[in-house]
Amino acid sequence: MDPQATSVMWFRRDLRTFDNPALLAALAEGPTLGLFVLDPVLWDPAGPSRRHQLVASLRALGADVPLAVRAGDPVREVVAAAREVGATHVHVAADYGPYGAARDEAVEEALADAGIALVRTGSPYAVAPGRVRNGSGDPYQVFTPFSRAWSEHGWRGPAGPIPDDALWLSLEETAPLPEVDLPEGLDLPEPGEAAAHRAWEAFLEQVDDYAEDRDRPDLEGTSRLSHHLKLGEIHPRTLLADLAGREGDGAATFRTELAWREFYADVLHRRPDSARDYLRPQLAAMRYDEPGPDFDAWREGRTGFPIVDAGMRQLRATGWMHNRLRMITASFLVKDLHVEWQHGARHFLHWLVDGDLASNSHGWQWTAGCGTDAAPYFRVFNPTTQGRRFDPDGVYIRTWVPELADVADPHDPSPDDRDLVGYPEPIVDHRAERLEALDRYGEVRDAAAGR
Ligand SMILES: Cc1cc2nc3c(=O)[nH]c(=O)nc-3n(C[C@H](O)[C@H](O)[C@H](O)COP(=O)(O)OP(=O)(O)OC[C@H]3O[C@@H](n4cnc5c(N)ncnc54)[C@H](O)[C@@H]3O)c2cc1C
Repeated sequence: MDPQATSVMWFRRDLRTFDNPALLAALAEGPTLGLFVLDPVLWDPAGPSRRHQLVASLRALGADVPLAVRAGDPVREVVAAAREVGATHVHVAADYGPYGAARDEAVEEALADAGIALVRTGSPYAVAPGRVRNGSGDPYQVFTPFSRAWSEHGWRGPAGPIPDDALWLSLEETAPLPEVDLPEGLDLPEPGEAAAHRAWEAFLEQVDDYAEDRDRPDLEGTSRLSHHLKLGEIHPRTLLADLAGREGDGAATFRTELAWREFYADVLHRRPDSARDYLRPQLAAMRYDEPGPDFDAWREGRTGFPIVDAGMRQLRATGWMHNRLRMITASFLVKDLHVEWQHGARHFLHWLVDGDLASNSHGWQWTAGCGTDAAPYFRVFNPTTQGRRFDPDGVYIRTWVPELADVADPHDPSPDDRDLVGYPEPIVDHRAERLEALDRYGEVRDAAAGR
């Protein structure tokens, strides 16, 4: 370390001290300013869940290490902060998202004008997007070969904690963190690095059951780490290192789920347009319905399909929804209500505490039949059958749709039961809407084939 040199660690989606290579690189250089910039481009459109979680996570990080906060355009704020502390380098973990990558280029240019270098070390992924390529040097279009090549590519071991004698700098003026009021009834999970490690250690005790339990929303069978991963409170490499050497389907399946996260980031990196547009454009030409009262019923969890309503209410109450429910509710919107996936994706991003552009847009596109490895469009989920299969005793439905707690069949309550407890009749006839979806699909398929 050179006591004369100073550096800046610009935190973004890496709000942790353990296994943070960019932070270690900054501290190795000299006394370091920990900086976070509240960027209106990201803050303004964020819903209450992500805003709240970000602020709470920054408070948690700020309790562990000195953290200066500035609000405004990062191009201006990062350069100004770096100049204030006389830094020669600003360290970051590389951002591969469409906005983040462009922002970093603009900041890099402005820093260069001031004689300061932007240094990228690591990323929010075990393998940086764009790295996994096939034998011809091309990116993979589908998941399974990507996942195999991703495993073979491998990753470094965790970088460890920050040194005890780390030296920190501060700014004279730092912006206060905004207070975020949560809408009534929204109760979010605990953020922060310490909570992430606790959640991971608890999950490791049950990882052997993951392959069997992960599809069951009535069980606590998944890790609930998605919001921690989103803010970088724990790094996937830390998880992969703890899983190394563990035999069994549970650990293998969990690794595969992490690979999905990396795959979708890779796809978004090479196709930034797929954040909001069709990855495979054929279905863009399909007839869709404009969102109307049925869309409102879907958002508010009163479609009259208990499993769909349970999922939508879990989202509004906790900022999280079980993966099986994300698929069921997304399929219902696109194939039963014939509403385009982007409307649903926006609603999810507004409420999800783990809202992530790559995983959300591609999770939606997969379900809507226009993404990577898409399930064939004609395979339409029957919500009632899905509910019976994955929530066999109706425990999940009874939890999130409490008016159905005591009815005989929570999956398909009788008209009398619905009437008695004030639960709506189904807003659509699933069998008829399935046929309608298939008709509309047939139209675009025929048009594409020139028939
Ligand atoms: C329509 C739709 C929208 C989605 N939107 C998001 C989103 O905005 N943010 C998000 O993190 N995940 C999203 N997912 C993926 C998945 O539902 C969540 O990652 C998972 O439910 C989070 O819970 P968990 O941490 O307990 O998962 P676990 O089952 O414990 O999985 C561990 C981790 O693996 C990753 N992962 C698991 N499944 C997937 C998957 N299908 N795709 C990508 N990564 C996965 C996540 O990082 C997750 O935290 C979406 C899926 C669908 C079908």
